[in-house]
Amino acid sequence: MVREQLEARDIRDPRLLEAMRRVPRHLFVPEAYRDHAYQDSPQPIGNQQTISQPLMVGAMTQLLCLTGEETVLEIGTGSGYQTAILAELAKRVISIERHDALSQRARGLLEWLGYRNIEIHCGDGTAGYPPDAPYDRILVTAGAPQIPEPLLEQLARPGRMVIPVGSMEMQSLYVVIRDEQGGMRTEDHGPCVFVPLIGVFGWHAPPPPGAPAG
Ligand code: SAM
Repeated sequence: MVREQLEARDIRDPRLLEAMRRVPRHLFVPEAYRDHAYQDSPQPIGNQQTISQPLMVGAMTQLLCLTGEETVLEIGTGSGYQTAILAELAKRVISIERHDALSQRARGLLEWLGYRNIEIHCGDGTAGYPPDAPYDRILVTAGAPQIPEPLLEQLARPGRMVIPVGSMEMQSLYVVIRDEQGGMRTEDHGPCVFVPLIGVFGWHAPPPPGAPAG
């Protein structure tokens, strides 16, 4: 996976490549899909969600430019695989997932693997997580209609945020770079496709099947 899918496609950060060699991705994939864990694609993880393609995990993490000293806020824990990669490369990771079943499973697995610098919370990550703000880095792993205002407010100076922004079907991978004075610029790193970021400052959840109209 690392040689053919990452090194061959511009993932160059040696600490990141080493972390992606170390973290056992197959443990984060449900048993039925374990044989596909190292394929060049996302895989289902339940609750109609996915563990992202290894290349996307590598590309987003590389764009965060982690040195090992940062506190990172991740929105969209999912399986917890990306959370583990962040925990290998940063000082502390706070991760928010809106599906209780996914957050509980990820928390259990990450604890069992011995990570002590991760906190997982269940809730709407579009509001960020004010108790530990500001964050040196923010990573959003679901597609947003726009950059949620609370996440901009909770980004440190200097700080970096990586977030897919666009329609429900396709997004652009944005990097928001904030300088020490608070000035901000945004880079567009090309097209990507993520499951929707659902919440007060994201897409609004569809009504449950059978809910009365109006
Ligand atoms: N990075 C994850 C991994 O390694 O498995 C995959 C993340 S998956 C592509 C996106 C996740 O974002 C889903 O688990 C979804 O439930 C979650 N999500 C969507 N909207 C959210 C929100 N407002 N707050 C927290 N999590 C959210």
